[in-house]
Amino acid sequence: MSDRPRLTTTAGAPVASNQNSKTVGPNGPVLLEDYQLVEKLAHQNRERVPERVVHAKGWGAYGTLTVTEDITRYSRAKVFEKGKQTEMLARFSTVAGEQGAADAERDVRGFALKFYTEEGNWDLVGNNTPVFFVADPYKFPDFIHTQKRHPRTNLRSATAMWDFWSLCPESLHQVTILMSDRGIPTDPSRMNGYGSHTFSLWNDQGERFWVKFHFKTNQGHKHFTNDEAAEVIAKSRESYQEALYGMIEEGSFPSWTMYIQVMPEGEEQAFEEKTGWSAFDLTKVWPHGDYPLIKVGTMELNKNPENYFHEIEQSAFNPSNVVPGIGFSPDKMLQGRLFSYPDAHRYRIGTHYDVLPVNKPRCPVHHYHQGGEMAFGLKTNPDAYYEPNSFNGPVEDPTVEEPPHKYSGQVGRYEFRGVADHYSQPRALFNLFDDDQKKRLFSNIAGAMQGVPQFIVDRQLEHFDKVDPAYGAGVREALEKQGRDDAEASLSTSHSAQTAAE
Ligand code: NDP
Repeated sequence: MSDRPRLTTTAGAPVASNQNSKTVGPNGPVLLEDYQLVEKLAHQNRERVPERVVHAKGWGAYGTLTVTEDITRYSRAKVFEKGKQTEMLARFSTVAGEQGAADAERDVRGFALKFYTEEGNWDLVGNNTPVFFVADPYKFPDFIHTQKRHPRTNLRSATAMWDFWSLCPESLHQVTILMSDRGIPTDPSRMNGYGSHTFSLWNDQGERFWVKFHFKTNQGHKHFTNDEAAEVIAKSRESYQEALYGMIEEGSFPSWTMYIQVMPEGEEQAFEEKTGWSAFDLTKVWPHGDYPLIKVGTMELNKNPENYFHEIEQSAFNPSNVVPGIGFSPDKMLQGRLFSYPDAHRYRIGTHYDVLPVNKPRCPVHHYHQGGEMAFGLKTNPDAYYEPNSFNGPVEDPTVEEPPHKYSGQVGRYEFRGVADHYSQPRALFNLFDDDQKKRLFSNIAGAMQGVPQFIVDRQLEHFDKVDPAYGAGVREALEKQGRDDAEASLSTSHSAQTAAE
């Protein structure tokens, strides 16, 4: 035998043959007692876990967050101490496509980060856009249904998308970003990341600050047009995986500069009075002019995973994973995700998904959860299996209690204040685009509206008009041009068919 390791069953017993199954003579049937064969086939049947309902197609790598500035006046989190380096994992993804979907599709990109801090894992589970289509988690399952397949045709439905968007005009801001150049980054290193939600920071004095997290690409923005993306997809559906994996293997490590925007607690009322927007509305940004970016440090990705399934498919990011000094906000979408993300992982991977190496905190973990799938790895005092106990089991630490919130009001179902103003922020964005960017925006929208009933198109055009009459007019013109192009194309097809028949 060579010095290579000996093949074994999962129980560790050596395997004599991995080539021929056990049969009664060379032409006889296979025996059920060939346990190695049965085990191999049974494992194959179980090689997948349910894919994520959203963000199924992903690409990821490990790296480091290096804090270069002092922001301890806002947060006591040890991860933010100046000079601190923290190991981390990033997973990027598209939202709508299934696991086999092409990478270079027009879609929002997930930008999920897990920081293995000394006080527990901090997960920032954001996107490459600072806003989202809806502000209330009540609408999220409906919105995602419009991005997925039609129940009867099993095809994606442009009608469903524009029907929903035109009936929920708070989506206009995100739709404008999606249909702009930034809707198809060339690869994950060429896009920004945003925590998107409003979170909070709290310091040693018990002061709270509302915060937005930003990660600006140091590689510069680079995007595909629709035509360029179609060419890429025709050659490879895995262009992001190739790019991210390739650049890290070559030692060309992508990096992002991390910034925060900070609003002292209590100032949200003045912000609302001044702008008419809620500071907690995920369809809105905080203008940089009012809340400038404050530099924090640099995030670099520098190590590829050894095993995609173990480390990226089984990675589980939860916005609920925060550490002392970082907290939540009344952002309704955030509140919904605090439930739905860990719930998705328990369903997808198993109850104790956080003991898997990629999810496991790199600091001591002590809790009293018992049993369930994958309940391994927790070394507890056997007599201290409940709390309170007299047997030296882990106890709470009141020094990490976050300052109390000052919420008050009457229970009800509310829209965010300013919800009627769906137009000012898309207008500010539209005004940032040059003429060529606007032209591509119009034609991307017209392309995405193909086959959508006219009454839905008309309803959406009214929203574009309200952003800027030039926005509506530009899309109308692009739709007309597309109509002419389609008519010419069908005329030339029927002409060539006729010529061929003659
Ligand atoms: P600023 O002029 O200070 O900032 C403009 C921002 O827009 C920059 O962050 C820039 O990102 C980003 N940007 C530029 N082109 C696009 C695009 N095609 N798609 C998405 N983002 C883009 O403006 P304000 O802060 O006053 O905001 C104006 C508008 O800019 C907002 O309504 C919003 O649509 C957009 N925006 C604002 C952000 C914010 O947090 N305030 C964040 C991102 C977008 P970069 O510097 O990387 O080029």
